[in-house]
Amino acid sequence: MAAAYSIARDVPLQAWNSFHLAASARYFATVHDAAALPALLAEPTLQGLPSMVLGAGSNVLFATERYDGVIVHLACDSARILQQDAAHALVHVDAGFEWDALVDWTLDQALQGLENLALIPGQAGAAPIQNIGAYGVEVGESVAAVLAYDRTTAAFVRLTAAQCGFSYRDSVFKREPDRWIVTALELRLQRGGATNLAYAGLREELANMGGLEPLPHNVAAAVRRIRRRKLPDPAVAGNAGSFFKNPIVPRELALQLQSRLDGLPVFPAASAAERKLSAAWLIERAGWRGFRDGDAGVSAQHALVLVNLGRATGPQLLALAQRVAASVREMCGVQLEPEPRIVGATFNP
Ligand SMILES: Cc1cc2nc3c(=O)[nH]c(=O)nc-3n(C[C@H](O)[C@H](O)[C@H](O)COP(=O)(O)OP(=O)(O)OC[C@H]3O[C@@H](n4cnc5c(N)ncnc54)[C@H](O)[C@@H]3O)c2cc1C
Repeated sequence: MAAAYSIARDVPLQAWNSFHLAASARYFATVHDAAALPALLAEPTLQGLPSMVLGAGSNVLFATERYDGVIVHLACDSARILQQDAAHALVHVDAGFEWDALVDWTLDQALQGLENLALIPGQAGAAPIQNIGAYGVEVGESVAAVLAYDRTTAAFVRLTAAQCGFSYRDSVFKREPDRWIVTALELRLQRGGATNLAYAGLREELANMGGLEPLPHNVAAAVRRIRRRKLPDPAVAGNAGSFFKNPIVPRELALQLQSRLDGLPVFPAASAAERKLSAAWLIERAGWRGFRDGDAGVSAQHALVLVNLGRATGPQLLALAQRVAASVREMCGVQLEPEPRIVGATFNP
């Protein structure tokens, strides 16, 4: 029988983060059976060391050359339907399943709900951490429960969607990053029904694709086309997607800023007393789009994406992110918050 986990020492992480930063980890544990997590964490060599889960590394910035602890990588990757009726299915998916492959797997099962989230890099287990979202949909809308190992109580738990505390790019998992190791998700998906075309560009893309009907697999194909056009490919220029969250501000402030900054887009937020601003617009307005300092840059393709154009280091990218945030704050008083996890340093603009 294959071992439930393996531990390697002094492992380079350059291939394990989409910024392609040259960091390394003291220990790197690959877990093939999530039930073995307590045994792994009880290994004598790992005692007293910090641990951090790493999926595909597409939402982390290693701001240190060495992570002096143990990286836990979940490699379990099966998916199955637990229950179904004519209108719904409850799907179990292991944390290690690749997210975009899961989107295709659900479409192959004639299930819908994830199609707007096609082509988001990373593992399924990471999806609830920041409640991944794109093109009018957030994963939290499809989560029935998250199965996890709680490092604080040393117990396996099942958190309902309400207990996950999902909000815009946020959840209990993101707020307490050292607590839970997500081992699997239970997703409630639909059979049939309308797809979500709230994002205006989707209708346009379907029209440009020869007037395709808004069926789930066509929506996924349209999302993939838009994303390939809009976002820099991490294989070409290392990046972690959007580097900043769109700021949520009081409604009054949004109105004031709208009168000062001509053309500022303002969107509804979860609360009627607040509004969401476009971080990309603010960064572009502050003059950063296409900026480059050595190999650390702000993408010319999309102002929200910081890029490693060659041999940038984590501290250089972090310094650039802080300069961008400080200049937006000076321009309009709005504080930008980073979206990726910053390892080994604090974001302090
Ligand atoms: C080109 C590009 C485009 C992107 N577009 C989007 C987008 O449209 N929408 C969006 O929301 N995000 C987007 N992202 C960000 C990223 O894809 C998501 O956040 C994704 O969920 C990260 O998955 P990962 O496996 O790479 O996680 P990692 O980067 O490895 O980890 C991210 C965080 O989650 C934690 N984590 C990962 N797995 C687990 C687990 N099993 N248990 C507990 N904690 C865990 C890590 O500790 C870390 O804090 C994009 C990134 C890139 C590079």
